[in-house]
Amino acid sequence: GNMSSVSVPPPKCLQKPLVVPHRHMFGPGPSNVPPRILEAGANPVIGHMHPEIFEIMSDIKSGIQYMFQTQNNMTLAVSGTGHTAMECAIFNTVEPGESVLTAVNGIWGERAAEMAERIGNIGGIPYFSALSKHRPVVFFLAHGESSTGVLHPLDGIGQLCHKYNCLFLVDSVASIGGAPLYMDQQGIDILYTGSQKVLNAPPGTAPISFSERACQKIFNRRTKPVSFFLDLSWLANYWGCDGKPSRVYHHTGPVTAFYSLRESLAVLVEEGLEKSWERHQKVAEYFHACLENMGLKLFVKEKKARLSTVTTIVAPHGYDWKEITTYIMKTHNLEISGGLGPSVGLVLRVGLMGCNSSKANVDMVLAALKDALKHCHKSKV
Ligand code: PMP
Repeated sequence: GNMSSVSVPPPKCLQKPLVVPHRHMFGPGPSNVPPRILEAGANPVIGHMHPEIFEIMSDIKSGIQYMFQTQNNMTLAVSGTGHTAMECAIFNTVEPGESVLTAVNGIWGERAAEMAERIGNIGGIPYFSALSKHRPVVFFLAHGESSTGVLHPLDGIGQLCHKYNCLFLVDSVASIGGAPLYMDQQGIDILYTGSQKVLNAPPGTAPISFSERACQKIFNRRTKPVSFFLDLSWLANYWGCDGKPSRVYHHTGPVTAFYSLRESLAVLVEEGLEKSWERHQKVAEYFHACLENMGLKLFVKEKKARLSTVTTIVAPHGYDWKEITTYIMKTHNLEISGGLGPSVGLVLRVGLMGCNSSKANVDMVLAALKDALKHCHKSKV
């Protein structure tokens, strides 16, 4: 080899050590990862097809079944974030020409519609403009709408969808573990979430589960799903859900992310789902009452419709929301965020998820907010 052949020199930046600050992650995600889960992810890398990994994947599957309250055999974690699971759900169930109905109660319904449109489908028919009229094959609903801070009720919708031969697809990225959800009882056909919110694992794996009804539709397609990576026939085999005696290489599973995910599910099992739901609810109610006492307004007026994990506060009048979030980050080393999609400029968003959901953290956020309102520029108008 000719040592002088490289024309791009080694970058100076990579000759300095990696520096990552400690930060209070109280935005809508990712949330803080406790040492126990971080350490799990620091275990040695072994082969993604080694029997020990298959056992860890099987444990993850059991943990997801508990978290989702489902007996579905077709339960696994996709390699990627919430968006990956969202595309996995839509790309596998919908064929070109079929329509998808989405409930647009924030940004996530809009994104689901866009994904459906990309495979040549009719997406984004406005909320309930009729299951009977458009005969959609899938109805999409975000249980926890993290852009608006809305918790959407689920009861009865699955049964209604089934009456019209429509699959009920629910996004629980922002809500799972923080609010009651019963996949089987509520007739949910496809449910997914992410690892980086209530689960407190690093971003990069996304639990997903499919009902028997969903599998019937998916495995009787006329066309192949547009994505090879997200093709459920392949994923089902990799996760040992297809009953075949051996597994075939599909993609290299992110094994260290599996370790963290398994540990995060173990933490949830240790606390118990009901306890976790209750804790998030109590902490949120305390937070919301304190905010109102401070003279701030909650974006979601109806108490029952407030998401416990992500709180949307009406952007304080006279202030620049961006100055507030920037001030809090700089002065308190704490992340809260502004709006997203339809809520940009209208709200501040605070996420208290998993281990972050505590009264002590509420007090920390309140102190930071009070300090920001005192020090940030306020217009007289
Ligand atoms: N759905 C909801 C409700 C979310 O809050 C998020 C993340 N903010 C997503 C989907 C997308 O997840 P990810 O960023 O992990 O792709």
